[in-house]
Amino acid sequence: MGLNKKDLAGYFRSIGEKEYRANQIVKWIHQRGVSDFNSMTDLSLGLRKRLLEDCEIKAPEVIYERDSKDGTRKWVVSVGEGDLIEMVLIPEGKRATLCVSSQVGCAIDCSFCATGKQGFSRNLTLAEIIGQLWIAENSFGNSREKGERNITNVVMMGMGEPLHNFDPVVKAMELMLDDNAYGLSKRKVTLSTSGLVPQIDKLSKLTDVSLTISLHAPNDKLRNELVPVNKKYPIKDLLKSVKNYVDQCNDSRVTTFEYILIDRVNDSLELAGELADLLQDFPCKINLIPFNSFSDSTYKRPSGNRVKRFQEFLKLKGYVVTIRSTRGDDIMAACGQLVGKVNDRTGRKERKKKKELIKTKSI
Ligand code: SAH
Ligand code: SF4
Repeated sequence: MGLNKKDLAGYFRSIGEKEYRANQIVKWIHQRGVSDFNSMTDLSLGLRKRLLEDCEIKAPEVIYERDSKDGTRKWVVSVGEGDLIEMVLIPEGKRATLCVSSQVGCAIDCSFCATGKQGFSRNLTLAEIIGQLWIAENSFGNSREKGERNITNVVMMGMGEPLHNFDPVVKAMELMLDDNAYGLSKRKVTLSTSGLVPQIDKLSKLTDVSLTISLHAPNDKLRNELVPVNKKYPIKDLLKSVKNYVDQCNDSRVTTFEYILIDRVNDSLELAGELADLLQDFPCKINLIPFNSFSDSTYKRPSGNRVKRFQEFLKLKGYVVTIRSTRGDDIMAACGQLVGKVNDRTGRKERKKKKELIKTKSI
């Protein structure tokens, strides 16, 4: 699971086998969902024996699954040393979207995000990232052996900042797009980022999957507060880099900007106006995400009316504006609610707890 096609080709070369074996193995593992070398009937008995000695096919361990009343399913997955991550499957008519995690926790620490509040433990490996898709596809039963594919879309919007875990995420996306693996189209694999400019530039040379930018504010002052990485990569630089990314995708691609709506924080019509001005020359869609609450957050979700008027304002300015429907919040599976279990190695969680304690004592 931890090897892409190129790595596998290298392995087969090293044991004196032909490189095309890599293709066969990728098909068995990722297209058919097989985890037993003995079932790989187009490999010689000798090679199967060698593989059994050298390798194992192992997805991360599912601790439990939960189904929401709206059909959303969440898996909690162990990645060792007590770290748990979460992934979410969102069925919607003929579509089934898997929301995949890239890190245990997240170092960016956006003020509105439950994942960020957990601190950060480590990057996920390629096996742990692609393993999520493998587990979710296999949950549909043996339809895979017949070549059926069930998951139609993947969004890198689970726990973590995917561009902080660059190489494994890029390799995982390669497998998602590979016809011999998951065969998803580049428009149906979406990477969502808080806006790491150098990594977006690097990504533009390697892939052309769909890119979604978590903007959340139309000016640097407010964005610095909500998405701290903005202090390093301000909006102007971010938009320039995103434009460059879109230009290298040689099709008529539009970027999606995500804008979380938090009551009285970033949901005024004045800010909607600023947003409309900011993006006026950018071929884009705007996706509004009403804030999803979690236990230790002081933010609130705006009323339906406030969400609607923000949307209408932007629509009148000519934008395509969607409101993301909240799915799976009864099982804490909605955007920004994924917490897993993070052995925080940054000390952030402890520092925050201490601060809270001092505040309470002084009151
Ligand atoms: N780190 C990446 C991808 C994971 S977050 C990113 O930030 O883009 C996926 C999406 O969920 C982002 O748009 C993020 O802003 C949003 N999100 C985070 N916390 C949220 C919350 N409490 N309510 C609603 N959406 C949230
Ligand atoms: Fe990290 Fe994204 Fe959450 Fe921000 S919104 S803390 S970047 S996971």
